[in-house]
Amino acid sequence: MLNLLAEPWGVIVSHARACYPRECCGILLGTAAEGDVRTVTTAVACVNAYQGEQSDRFELDPKDQFEAQRAARRQGLEVLGFFHSHPDCDAYFSATDLANSWPWYSNLVVSVRGGEVSHARAFRANDNQTASTEEELRCPQS
Ligand SMILES: [Zn+2]
Repeated sequence: MLNLLAEPWGVIVSHARACYPRECCGILLGTAAEGDVRTVTTAVACVNAYQGEQSDRFELDPKDQFEAQRAARRQGLEVLGFFHSHPDCDAYFSATDLANSWPWYSNLVVSVRGGEVSHARAFRANDNQTASTEEELRCPQS
């Protein structure tokens, strides 16, 4: 289960709005507890580094990922996953999302319609990235 606290959720919503109609992306930091409950305490908004049409693609800069890893370690947190937005599209896990994901990590997808956040869902890829399962999501707006 992915449990998003109000502060990181606010960061994600602002970033998704600011990047619209392009996809936004970022990194989720927090703690993973027994029973597979992941609590996101910090969301790091990143630049979409994809070198092309960004309305339906995103890419994280490896430097940002490295920085987030370091920041997490400093605060005694871990990188729990990633987030990105789907402008004028539902929050689903696309074939591209699956191909570009990593096992274990949570992937939060935020649907943005007309510049406002509509809904969000979370997914995890299986070990060989051939399928994903939806992860239960708890966030201030859903
Ligand atoms: Zn996507």
